[in-house]
This record gives sequence, structure tokens and C-alpha cells, in this order.
Amino acid sequence: MKKKVKMDPAEWRDKLSLAAFRVTRLGETERPFTGQYNDCKEDGTYHCICCGEALFSSEHKYDSKSGWPSYWAPIHPDVVTGRKDKSLWMQRVEVLCSSCDAHLGHVFDDGPQPSGKRYCINSASLVLRDRQSEED
Ligand code: FE
Repeated sequence: MKKKVKMDPAEWRDKLSLAAFRVTRLGETERPFTGQYNDCKEDGTYHCICCGEALFSSEHKYDSKSGWPSYWAPIHPDVVTGRKDKSLWMQRVEVLCSSCDAHLGHVFDDGPQPSGKRYCINSASLVLRDRQSEED
């Protein structure tokens, strides 16, 4: 397991846009159909906006019609961590970046096969890089 990325809230606030800070460090949810990756069909890898870890691939992205970018799996099971979230009087599983504990979104059991999972992720927590730039 890689070393954890830890910064205090003021450092994260300096590093991130306000939208990214509010989602990843305060656990807020962007409004549906507003995020830059909701309709995105480009090939590439989605990295954590906070620590740069590779989290999701365009190969696992699908149109869930939920208004948020949705993936049926992370790029590797260990890169994200699930945590029970009882806010809003609902039982949900929150999805965090395993490296820096950024709030990413939630995971639900109504996704497509083969996993049956829907990782419902805020665009503001991600940055898409094409495969070319990853090789640099
Ligand atoms: Fe991260």
C-alpha cells in the first residue's frame, strides 16, 4: 500500500478549486448534469484531483442517466475505499480515494454487469488524462 497523502484543510484549500475542495474535503455533492465529465466519452484515465492517483478508466464508464459520471468498477479494487454513510437518512456507501481520503461520491448496487455496481462520482473530484500524457 502506498503512503497516505495527508494535508491540513488550509493546504487543500490552497491547492484545489473551490468546487473541488467542497466535494473532496467537505463531502458535498455537485448538482446533477453540471459536472464536466458527466457526458464525457473521451478515452483516458480519471485521476484524483487531490493526489493524482489513477482511480477510474474510460473503459468502465457508462451512461447511468443519473447526472454524474458513472463507472461499473474502479481501475483497481484497492484505489478506492467504501465507507458507510448514514447522512440524509439514507444508507449509502461513500467512496473515498484510498490514498488521500478525498470524498469522490457513492457506490450503489444498480450498475450494469459484470459488477452490478454503479460508482456515482462527482466530476469535481476527478481529472481526466489521456493515455498519451500518462506516458510522458
Ligand atoms: Fe486522492
